[in-house]
Amino acid sequence: MIGIGNFSCSHLGLDCSGRLEREHITYDPPKIVILCAFHNQVVNRIRRILALRLKEQHLRGRLHNLNRELCYDLMCKFRFSSAFLGNMDKACENVAAHLGLVSSRLDWYERLRSRPAVQPGSIRVRRKPIVVGDPVMLWDWEITVLDSAQAKRKGPRRTREAKRC
Ligand SMILES: [Zn+2]
Repeated sequence: MIGIGNFSCSHLGLDCSGRLEREHITYDPPKIVILCAFHNQVVNRIRRILALRLKEQHLRGRLHNLNRELCYDLMCKFRFSSAFLGNMDKACENVAAHLGLVSSRLDWYERLRSRPAVQPGSIRVRRKPIVVGDPVMLWDWEITVLDSAQAKRKGPRRTREAKRC
């Protein structure tokens, strides 16, 4: 079992591996989350693909705390394959390339993180997780913008045409 003293991974299970790390996300209300290195990386990849899928919908890529907490809460419902991290790195790179983020290959996620977050309440987005495998091999998000003044400013969207089909 992975544990130091009274501490153990917040998502303790057979898929745990690596040393314990403290998550550096500020929750509201504040809480300390201890994760093994593997699960810390797992939640990191779930957030990365979410940041990319938000950007794909012309939303700013930085994740505010509600998104971060959602990623953590959902992560805790699943066990993960050891292939998950490699699969997700490839998936994230593919989406990043599609969005033209290839030139900043190593720092694109940092750049997304540093953007200002969307003001809470200014946009409504449905974030539906798409989970593949048990244990999980791959994770993606289906993002649906429900209404947004921000999205409208980006120009006409294709939804009206799509409805005719
Ligand atoms: Zn763990």
